[in-house]
Amino acid sequence: WAKADGKARWTLFDPERNAHRMTRQALSSTLRPAVERDEFVLQYQPLVGLGDGVVRGVEALVRWRHPQFGMLAPNRFIGLAEETGAIVPLGRWVLATACRQARRWQLEHPGVPLVVSVNVAVRQVWDSDLVADVAAILAETGLPPRLLQLELTESAVMGSAGRPLQQLHQLSDMGVAIAIDDFGTGYSNLAYLSRLPVSTLKLDGSFVHGFRSGEPPNPADETIVEALVQLAHRLGIKVTAECVESAEQAERLGRIGCDTGQGWFYSRPVPADSISALLGTGPAVPGRAGFVCGSA
Ligand code: C2E
Ligand code: MG
Ligand code: MG
Ligand code: MG
Repeated sequence: WAKADGKARWTLFDPERNAHRMTRQALSSTLRPAVERDEFVLQYQPLVGLGDGVVRGVEALVRWRHPQFGMLAPNRFIGLAEETGAIVPLGRWVLATACRQARRWQLEHPGVPLVVSVNVAVRQVWDSDLVADVAAILAETGLPPRLLQLELTESAVMGSAGRPLQQLHQLSDMGVAIAIDDFGTGYSNLAYLSRLPVSTLKLDGSFVHGFRSGEPPNPADETIVEALVQLAHRLGIKVTAECVESAEQAERLGRIGCDTGQGWFYSRPVPADSISALLGTGPAVPGRAGFVCGSA
C-alpha cells in the first residue's frame, strides 16, 4: 500500500468496517421476517411524578432478541427499519404489544392508572394509516385511549401539514395523548408546537445532564429549563424530564416545575413482569424512598 493514499484504502478494506457493513445488511434484510418470527421484545421504563414519586406511566422500549447477535438495542436497528420501511410493521407490533400489556396491568391493578407511552417513527405518521392502526389496536385490546401516549420526535411533526397533521388531530380527538420526544434537540419551537395537539414535552436528556450531581449547577441550563417549563405550562403542556440519574437531579427538576421524570435513578427499562411486581408491591425500588405506586 502506498502510504500517501493508504488511509482511504485502509478504511475501505478495514475488516471491522466491513463486518459492520455486513451486519447492517444482514440486519436490514431480516427485519421484516424477524417481526413475523416474534424476535422483538419490549421493556418498560417507569415515568414518575417528580412531586409525589407516583408512577404515572411506563415507556415501551423495543429490543431485538437476535438469534445470532444477541440482544440488540434500538439504535442498532430503528434507523435501518426506518430506511427500509420495516418500521411500519415493527411499529404496529410495538403498539399492539404495549397496548395489550397495558390493558393487562389495568385489569390487574384497576386503582393504578398507568399510561403506556409508545415511540412512533416519522414514517408511521407520514406513510401509514396510524389512526386506523391505533383505533384497531385499542378496540382489539380494550385499552382506554386515555391510557395510551404516543411519542413523536420534533422532526416527525415539524412542518406537518395535510395528512400527518390530520392524523395527529384525529388521535388527539380519540383521547390518545401526544408527546414530543427528545424536545430541545431539533429546531421546532413552542409557539409552533402549541398549535399542535401536544399534551407533553419530553425534555431531552442533554438538558438534564446539566443537572448532574457533584458538578456545580450550570445556571444557564437551569434558567432555560425553568423558562421552558413555565411556557409549556402556560400553554397547557406538561413536561417530562428524561435521563434522571440522581436524587439531586430529580429534586432540582421537580423544584423547577417538571411534572414527571424518567431515568436510571428510578429504574432502568425492565421486562413487563418487573413492572407487574412493582405495581403489586408498592415501593418500586427497595430502599429508594419517594417512589411509590398508586394514584395519590
Ligand atoms: P427515547 O425514546 O428517547 O428513549 C429513551 C432512551 O433513553 C432509552 O434508550 C432509555 O433506555 C434511555 N434512558 C432511560 N433513562 C436513562 C438514563 O437515566 N440515562 C441514560 N443515559 N439513558 C437513559 P433505548 O431503549 O436504547 O432507546 C433508544 C431510542 O430508540 C429511543 O429513545 C427511541 O428513539 C428509539 N426507540 C426505542 N423503542 C422504539 C420503538 O418501539 N419504536 C421507535 N420508533 N423507536 C424506538
Ligand atoms: Mg421515547
Ligand atoms: Mg426520549
Ligand atoms: Mg432520547
